Amino acid sequence: MSCIFCDIIEGNIKSERVYEDENCIIIKDIEPIAPIHYLMIPKKHYSKLEEASVSEAMELSFMLNKLGQMKKELGLEEGYRIIINQGKNAGQTVDHLHIHVLAGKELNWQV
Ligand code: 5GP
Ligand code: ZN
Repeated sequence: MSCIFCDIIEGNIKSERVYEDENCIIIKDIEPIAPIHYLMIPKKHYSKLEEASVSEAMELSFMLNKLGQMKKELGLEEGYRIIINQGKNAGQTVDHLHIHVLAGKELNWQV
């Protein structure tokens, strides 16, 4: 099974990595839709929230907490939005769960 985010995590595909720990990486999105657009990607491959094991779900929660702690380093002090697209109608194009982090301006709120 090929997965672009697994390839990025393994370093087989280049990305602009701004953070890494044992559970996740944070990279810059290749097609940003806001002045700041990161992808926080768990190192374990799963596609949907309900597919996460209990330990993966806990890791996800730690990841989000870590993101909050890194606001200053990542330029998120003025506020940020996190989005997890799940499935077709949400526009999920990569079947490896990832958290979009949008910031850098006042974001509007329409879909
Ligand atoms: P989704 O639509 O699945 O929620 O988001 C996938 C995101 O991954 C998109 O915003 C897209 O721009 C980004 N993306 C796809 N391929 C690559 C890549 O090779 N490198 C990086 N940095 N981002 C990618
Ligand atoms: Zn993957």
